[in-house]
Amino acid sequence: MKAQERLIAEVRGRIPELSPQEALSLQARGAALIDVRESDEIAQGTAPGALPLGRGFLELRIEEVIPDTGRTIVAMCSSGVRSLLAADGLMRLGYTSVYSMAGGFARWKAEGLPVEVLVAMDAVARERYSRHLRMPEIAETGQAKLTRSKVLLVGAGGLGSPAALYLAAAGVGTVGLVDDDVVERSNLHRQILHTDARVGTPKVVSARASLEALNPAVKVVGHETRLTSANVEQILAGYDVVIDGSDNFPTRYLVNDACVKLGLPNVHGAVMRFEGQVSVFWPGRPRGGGPCYRCLFPEPPALEDAPACADVGVLGVLPGVIGLLQACETMKLLLGLGEPLVGRMLYFDALLGSFSELTFQRDPDCRYCGEGRPFPGYIDYARFCAHLAR
Ligand SMILES: [Zn+2]
Repeated sequence: MKAQERLIAEVRGRIPELSPQEALSLQARGAALIDVRESDEIAQGTAPGALPLGRGFLELRIEEVIPDTGRTIVAMCSSGVRSLLAADGLMRLGYTSVYSMAGGFARWKAEGLPVEVLVAMDAVARERYSRHLRMPEIAETGQAKLTRSKVLLVGAGGLGSPAALYLAAAGVGTVGLVDDDVVERSNLHRQILHTDARVGTPKVVSARASLEALNPAVKVVGHETRLTSANVEQILAGYDVVIDGSDNFPTRYLVNDACVKLGLPNVHGAVMRFEGQVSVFWPGRPRGGGPCYRCLFPEPPALEDAPACADVGVLGVLPGVIGLLQACETMKLLLGLGEPLVGRMLYFDALLGSFSELTFQRDPDCRYCGEGRPFPGYIDYARFCAHLAR
């Protein structure tokens, strides 16, 4: 027997093997499926959700990607040999629950299990997103997901500006913007999508110019209108995530209600003076739906309790901080990474330089997201300002 065959036979005696079907079930229960093939092989197609960790970097990167040595790991390669050796290496590093997938990706495909084929990335895209591509949590698979993603920003103002710029920069394929305002000079101390030369231009037009200049590959969809009960569902439908950067209660409630009905995550942000808040409202989350905006605030406040728009100032950089936290939550949702701010309101106090967090539950009696309730319909509230929740 050749040395190589002897080694493989010996490793096979140590490492438990799984069928592709068993690997898929384990992955669904939280195990990490790692694809140890080379990146050009992975680019031809891989298992959905598999983490690309080429053999060359496996031992160097595994601790970053899977810090918990007790987590179950299934290694996959093309035919089931390299994955045996990879699994053996992981055991040696102290991982206690490691399997190799017998037959590799060839058998996975032959058994008709789901395959994710990545859109071929050209050299320009490869260079542009190189800092994403070198992170195994994103890599080609994640970048392809971003390319296919559609994010709607409600408001191309203080919150929408930084969020739109960073999402376009990151390669989110479609960025939609809803706004019916024109650029005013008083917007420019915080709304960095717009420029002095574009004062008087519709914000949607100005935003498109900035986003296309930053990343020509991004498709910008402009909705130059005000959201109403008549158009909200039609505009939101088809997007993956909605970022609410609105500054008024009627829009905020319409966005909430439509997101509840359509099952979309609503990434909420609001700012006033030196303070801001961020949360993710998502009753339709596939695993463990969270509360909606109405679970916290069933109805808008009385007109006389709401601050008048012109009376409320804001520190110019503050919407930058909050809008980027919204963009960050959106990236996590699109990539399926980390723990979104579902059921948590994150507050930022710029003067103290501190963050604090309030956790809140879904209201089982919520008129909009309560279990088994028929959708009660949209409401056009009288238009008044809402810079913070209350
Ligand atoms: Zn609710």
